[in-house]
Amino acid sequence: MATIVPPNERECERCGRRDRWDDDLGTWRIVESDGEKAYGSPFCLHEWSINGAYNPLAE
Ligand SMILES: [Zn+2]
Repeated sequence: MATIVPPNERECERCGRRDRWDDDLGTWRIVESDGEKAYGSPFCLHEWSINGAYNPLAE
């Protein structure tokens, strides 16, 4: 399996920020829930927990 499937969602293990990949914009967008965006902490050095087995260093 050489095909790399990029993650479509990630969550910070430290502050709880959540992003979702937007294919149209080609960038991460902050997930909204109940009208509130899950920004997390602006001072956080985000430690992303990515769903699925995604390794950007894999060839
Ligand atoms: Zn964070």
